Amino acid sequence: MTDAAFRFDNSFAATMPGFYVAQAPARAPAPRLLRLNETLARDLGLDPATLTAEMFSGNALPVGAQPIAQVYAGHQFGGFSPQLGDGRALLLGEVIDRHGQRRDIALKGSGRTPFSRGGDGKAAVGPVLREYLIGEAMQALGVPTTRALAAVATGAPVLRQVELPGAVLTRVAASHIRVGTFQFFAARGETDKLRQLADYTMARHYPDLTAADYLSFFNAVAARQAALIAQWMALGFVHGVMNTDNMALSGETIDYGPCAFMEAYDPDTVFSSIDQTGRYSWGNQPFILIWNLTRLAEALLPLLGADEQSAVARATEALEAVPPLYRAHWLGLMRGKLGLAGADATDQRLADDLLALMQAQGADWTGTFRALARGHLALTGAAAEAWKTRWQARQAPDAAARMQAANPAYIPRNHLVEQALAAAEAGDMAPFEALLAVITDPFTDRLGLEGYAQPAPESFGRYRTFC
Ligand code: AMP
Ligand code: MG
Ligand code: MG
Repeated sequence: MTDAAFRFDNSFAATMPGFYVAQAPARAPAPRLLRLNETLARDLGLDPATLTAEMFSGNALPVGAQPIAQVYAGHQFGGFSPQLGDGRALLLGEVIDRHGQRRDIALKGSGRTPFSRGGDGKAAVGPVLREYLIGEAMQALGVPTTRALAAVATGAPVLRQVELPGAVLTRVAASHIRVGTFQFFAARGETDKLRQLADYTMARHYPDLTAADYLSFFNAVAARQAALIAQWMALGFVHGVMNTDNMALSGETIDYGPCAFMEAYDPDTVFSSIDQTGRYSWGNQPFILIWNLTRLAEALLPLLGADEQSAVARATEALEAVPPLYRAHWLGLMRGKLGLAGADATDQRLADDLLALMQAQGADWTGTFRALARGHLALTGAAAEAWKTRWQARQAPDAAARMQAANPAYIPRNHLVEQALAAAEAGDMAPFEALLAVITDPFTDRLGLEGYAQPAPESFGRYRTFC
């Protein structure tokens, strides 16, 4: 144990026995800090100077940490796994941050647990740094997200297709309660545990709701998720693995794996090498939102009514409200991206027509909207010119400023992410640091950073991710 001023207050460990197992982290032979998130550390009330690689490797846990592996189930690519759980992650405990928010501190890549199944419990430097980078980008873009507090190289190799340097990510999250956590207890018919989990989650994430009003709880979760997925869509973000165990009840983006940002606009965009059917393509994400929320509603059924029939009726009605809610969020974001004044019945059409032009011309998602914010339409042809005329007629007087704030200049460009991770694996963190500095201030054009705003060169080829 090491003395750092983590003021742990571990409510999950204290009040939720049966939802986890105690588990110590594996030993890392030669821990070395790759990166410490000093801003986030201060937000958590920590003095960065007291934070060490030993601590974040799991070798010398801070005083008050109670490492546990949480249990959960989940639908993975549509198939139900009744037993998943933290197979390579440990919740160390909870800290109340400077804004009074309770936040989980967890390690990812900290060794095997009873839930590891065939896995080695480890993580590699590349994916750990990808999660760090994309999480910080999302934070800067205003998207609810888990965040990295630290990335540590373990000094031990990880065997994937090839041998890779190992790492541990320290993750900060509003919580790690997932749709899959509810599914675990629902699938076992453990209604008391299901209720206990719902009560805990409501108190922690939806404290304004009336206790035991589980229908309102479901609606509140659905509302946060609809808003979240709309934000992803507006940024061209493709999560890549929207399994139900990767959907957090808090409404944060969680479990960055083979995620990436779309460049040339195509709704069928998929990056993950394991997503062979395109289940988690950009354009499918709103449907998966509904699909996953349907799984959550199913899990909550025993809490939603006195009998199954009334519970199903309530769940169905609640689910039917989600698509219009999602579409309202999406349209609101598109209005912001296009700098439209107020709301007009033709706005959906205006947005759809732009997307059709972008798709036909393979236009870069981020770049096209950022150019529009400067009044420049980066599309050619008569149809594009006609669209521009309609758009200009709908523009708000302060459109330029609003559009600059809604359309980032800088997102983590795929080829730059790959360069940064490859350099980091080879021991050079400079490209990672440079990219991180750019993407954490995404709305401010800076001279000399033009290269960071460009899509990948043709020679980069089709991007595939392997997390
Ligand atoms: P993910 O695809 O990262 O959301 O993980 C799905 C499930 O597989 C979770 O239960 C993880 O804890 C587990 N898992 C993923 N990678 C590993 C690994 N290398 N070792 C053990 N468990 C793993
Ligand atoms: Mg996961
Ligand atoms: Mg995971």
